[in-house]
Amino acid sequence: MNVNSLCQLTSLLLLLVVGLPSYASSLWESIATPSKGGPVAIGAYNNGCLSGAVALPLNGQGYQVLRSQKLRYFGHPSTIKFIEYLGREVEGYFQSRLLVADISLPRGGRFSTGHSSHQTGLDVDIWLRLPKKELLPQELNQPSPISVVDLKQYRLVKKNWDKRYFDLVKMAAQQLEVARIFVHPVIKEQLCLTESSSDRLWLRKVRPWWGHHYHMHIRLRCPEGSTECRAQKLPPVGDGCGAELLSWRPQTKAFQKESPSTKAKRKIKVPPKQCQQLLVEG
Ligand SMILES: [Zn+2]
Repeated sequence: MNVNSLCQLTSLLLLLVVGLPSYASSLWESIATPSKGGPVAIGAYNNGCLSGAVALPLNGQGYQVLRSQKLRYFGHPSTIKFIEYLGREVEGYFQSRLLVADISLPRGGRFSTGHSSHQTGLDVDIWLRLPKKELLPQELNQPSPISVVDLKQYRLVKKNWDKRYFDLVKMAAQQLEVARIFVHPVIKEQLCLTESSSDRLWLRKVRPWWGHHYHMHIRLRCPEGSTECRAQKLPPVGDGCGAELLSWRPQTKAFQKESPSTKAKRKIKVPPKQCQQLLVEG
């Protein structure tokens, strides 16, 4: 056993004895390489891990990766393929590029900061910015988000909204491998208002959720071969543009239930056993 594996094993033993979730979070972040073997997404989007991850090349056709220093650019190969496809489409349609933020850590698992999903290599954050010019290394490492929602007033910041965002979200939602796309409820309202054709099926996949006011969060379905991957139920039938969307408005009970401060207090779950093995594999 080499020093690295010994450290990981010691860390795991500590984790099992101490059992502190925050410690588990940093463990996932301490491993810089994917595990060997075939690609398998394990567990739930918000409580799982990823075996045999693939790194997204940091600068590809039609996209760039943000904050690569965080090592969150690993994913299931189906996710990597999807991002590369979307990048090519964006370059072709808009002569612009995507800014790709968090996917997953080299072995998936929980981030110590930020959101609780992105654990199985099937989630990816894409910023709502479509620059024509390549971002410089410093901008990529410390990028500036541009919110399209006035959070206090609960309304769209029109000067920051770009019509191309509608096309981008629709383009992504229409892909078969996409299960859900999360955006701020105000953004979903804008998408609902903008869709003038009778094709509203794609809006079913676009789900309102707090945060997500400067990026969209795309979630892919469990890929073939990932038998341990826990899928979510399908979103409710319909485009979700009516009563459901209204229920997110701040004056309703939904806001009380799902405000960000309440979310932060949710308990962290024990990850599947296979994930504990991934932490000690060389
Ligand atoms: Zn996300």
